[in-house]
Amino acid sequence: MLFIVSAPSGTGKTTVVERLVKVTDRLRLSRSYTSRAPRGDEQDGVDYNFVSRARFEKMIADGEFLEWADVFGNLYGTRTSDTSRCLQSGDDVVLVIDVQGARKVRGAGLPHVAIFVLPPSYDVLEQRLRGRSKDSEDAIRRRLQVARGEVSAFEEYDYVVINDELESCVERIKGIVLSERARLACVRDKALEIRRTFDRH
Ligand code: 5GP
Repeated sequence: MLFIVSAPSGTGKTTVVERLVKVTDRLRLSRSYTSRAPRGDEQDGVDYNFVSRARFEKMIADGEFLEWADVFGNLYGTRTSDTSRCLQSGDDVVLVIDVQGARKVRGAGLPHVAIFVLPPSYDVLEQRLRGRSKDSEDAIRRRLQVARGEVSAFEEYDYVVINDELESCVERIKGIVLSERARLACVRDKALEIRRTFDRH
């Protein structure tokens, strides 16, 4: 199953999802490609696959992306082959992507479960962005501006979770993942197998 997690920047979704994949079996985080430069101690191949804008544009032209978007003037995308390799292994995959990317996945008609993480309030989001202090004042203003627009997109999602406290936010998202795995469509084959064991008696 494909899970999408979106949230305005500064909501802490990366921390939440990194924790989520640690505490949930058979759930993998998809590593995105980006044309932006690494920030702080970010590493290529760990936080993102950092590529040049030219390489990213060539990947778009070659149809390599499941979805991609221009966020804050930088390009971000999910490579189709990375996602399908994970899904084929039988694991579920989480994409941490922005609202535009989620719309593209929805538009492509790919089955998925979309989760929106909201900050408790505008003031808390602003405090978190300033506390992170990785960005310039200009970048913080721009992120808050984009966040204003993104917050309204929550109604396009299947689930909404408020990130008030890390552990409880992670637990609630894990609950969503486990519930989705118990859906009939996901367990039908296994259930039929179990029913067949009754046929012999
Ligand atoms: P940041 O530069 O702070 O790491 O990420 C900026 C925004 O880009 C975040 O909203 C993040 O979710 C989004 N983003 C990261 N990877 C992808 C991706 O592969 N596709 C899309 N559409 N957005 C992404």
